[in-house]
Amino acid sequence: MSYLSKCLIASAAVLLIFAYIYVYIKKQKRTAEKCKTAVNDLKLVQELGKEISSKLQMSELLPAIMDAFVKAGDVSKGSLMLYDRERDILEIHSSVGLSDRARKYIKLKIGEGIAGRVAETGKPILVNDTTGARMYKDFFSEDSRGRPQETILSMPLIFKGEVLGVITLDAKKSGGQFIRNDERLLSILALQAAVSINNARMYEMAITDDLTKLYSKRHFIIRLQEEVEKARRYDRPLSLLFVDIDHFKEFNDTYGHQLGDRALQHLGGVIKKTTRAADISGRYGGEEFVIILPETARESALILAERLRKNIEKQSFVSRGNEYRITVSIGIGEYKAKMTSPSQLISEADKNLYKAKQKGRNRVV
Ligand code: GH3
Ligand code: MG
Ligand code: MG
Repeated sequence: MSYLSKCLIASAAVLLIFAYIYVYIKKQKRTAEKCKTAVNDLKLVQELGKEISSKLQMSELLPAIMDAFVKAGDVSKGSLMLYDRERDILEIHSSVGLSDRARKYIKLKIGEGIAGRVAETGKPILVNDTTGARMYKDFFSEDSRGRPQETILSMPLIFKGEVLGVITLDAKKSGGQFIRNDERLLSILALQAAVSINNARMYEMAITDDLTKLYSKRHFIIRLQEEVEKARRYDRPLSLLFVDIDHFKEFNDTYGHQLGDRALQHLGGVIKKTTRAADISGRYGGEEFVIILPETARESALILAERLRKNIEKQSFVSRGNEYRITVSIGIGEYKAKMTSPSQLISEADKNLYKAKQKGRNRVV
């Protein structure tokens, strides 16, 4: 072999080695970048998960979950549906980018539409194929008419094997499509969301009176302490109503305990409908109810109490074709700066309730 050939072979070998090193470094770089993205994605999901798990009240939790998914999925449209087991239906409880009509009217049975299928199978569905349009035309159809759906990712919210709801995301902001990696990542978030929804349900059960759906006594007392503290600190008015059913023992004795329970349920419903969102209603004892009226002085409390008394007197409830009516007496307590504890407010209202009973019942004092 000539000297020249040896030189050529040696150069080629060196070149080959350099090319190999170049490719190797490139590959390493790409792997490192992928790792970095994955770590950042996981970090984002972890942060969002933390935010979700800090919420205990359903009214705060559900929008927070929706928000987290919109951020993590980088989408401009999405919905969170909860499964109502009693009515066997999926309903939207929080959404982004959907029309009011869609929010109100989209109700899916298990197996119906994408979300319904996800709830049925407990498995996510990723759609990037517009030819599958029939499969999801009944979902998001409201404001997407004429626009093909490019990409949809729908995931179940499962806790202990039970489907609590479905999250569906649509319209990636980047204009791109969902990939399996999105599905994997968002499934982690879905897991945390389901745990948080379950926690919020347990919490709501713990603070709610099962029969009347008003707050339990224990939770009511906590809320009263908070409201009294606010009224004291900011020097704001605060009133409390003590409501007691008239001759309820007689009602029970005449119609039976079960119908008595229906009467309590009915009263809980009338109280909810008559009071404002800021008012705090609880079941204090058997047939005794309490309502905290924040930012309300005695005159306004009197107007509300009278309205409540009249509504109860007017509105009957029906059971097995028969109509029943109850009346209530109401005592009002007004917070005063000299009061040293919330129980003083309750006892003032209770004293006035006693007067109302003595004056003949079905009245406000
Ligand atoms: P008043 O007009 O003076 O308030 O008379 P009342 O009969 O309503 O008052 P009382 O306190 O003597 O009786 C309250 C009755 O409420 C006793 C009980 O039969 C009934 N009660 C209490 N808790 C429940 C409940 O959870 N369910 C039912 N069905 N009845 C209850
Ligand atoms: Mg009583
Ligand atoms: Mg009574």
